[in-house]
Amino acid sequence: MRTPIIAGNWKMNKNVNEAVDLVRELRRLVLDVEKVEMVVCPPFVALAPVADALAGTKIAVGAQNLYWEEKGAFTGEISAHMLAGLCKYVIIGHSERRQYFGETDETVNKKIKTARAQSLPRIVCGGENRAKYEGGETGAVGSRQFKAGLEGLTADQAPPSVIAYEPIWAIGTGKAATGAGANSVVALNIRGPLAEMFDEQVAQAMRVQYGGSVTPANIAEFMGMPDLDGALVGGASLKPADFSEIIKATAKVK
Ligand code: PEP
Repeated sequence: MRTPIIAGNWKMNKNVNEAVDLVRELRRLVLDVEKVEMVVCPPFVALAPVADALAGTKIAVGAQNLYWEEKGAFTGEISAHMLAGLCKYVIIGHSERRQYFGETDETVNKKIKTARAQSLPRIVCGGENRAKYEGGETGAVGSRQFKAGLEGLTADQAPPSVIAYEPIWAIGTGKAATGAGANSVVALNIRGPLAEMFDEQVAQAMRVQYGGSVTPANIAEFMGMPDLDGALVGGASLKPADFSEIIKATAKVK
């Protein structure tokens, strides 16, 4: 049994006051939710105040990124050492980081290892762009990214990561994948390679989210799929009413 996990990636949105207001509303809306792990990932500056506002609730806090060195002369960066204790998760390898900030499979791998060394669970993202999708290379991209990202880890070390399959063409476009399409990528091109790299047990235990234009209207379609264990939600996670509906629909379907 894999516990479903719904995480909200706020990206570069909300100042501290706005972030605290958002989670105050959210925590009220999801008071009765059970059996779904709930995570919000605000910008770095709001992590501590949001964590305080969520103390005693079932909503956890995650960071959106980290740097692989532990400390030192790396102006502007935040390490796993700084996040551990403050966050329950860190998102690694989001396509916007790859696209705008030069992240590669190699830097993703370094970040995963440093987070693991600090016992900080990872939400590791990957997915194909439109050209690869249209060129029929979806599977190759997914398996390359996740294999490279987890390279060098043993079966004991891979969990407790979560994988987020996020086709880039679906992120922020309003054009989500289909439930069946995402499920088949996850089953064949993510769990398959994980079983080859580690073993079948790791592949089956790994929670895999879908991400890309998830809304209250389409979440049930994704959560009805056997290989999808939750969602990484961007735009809709900024609206407490929508995000709570996504969480509640997940609790109902899973
Ligand atoms: C994301 O950025 O991870 C994402 C899935 O965004 P959206 O839900 O807005 O498509």
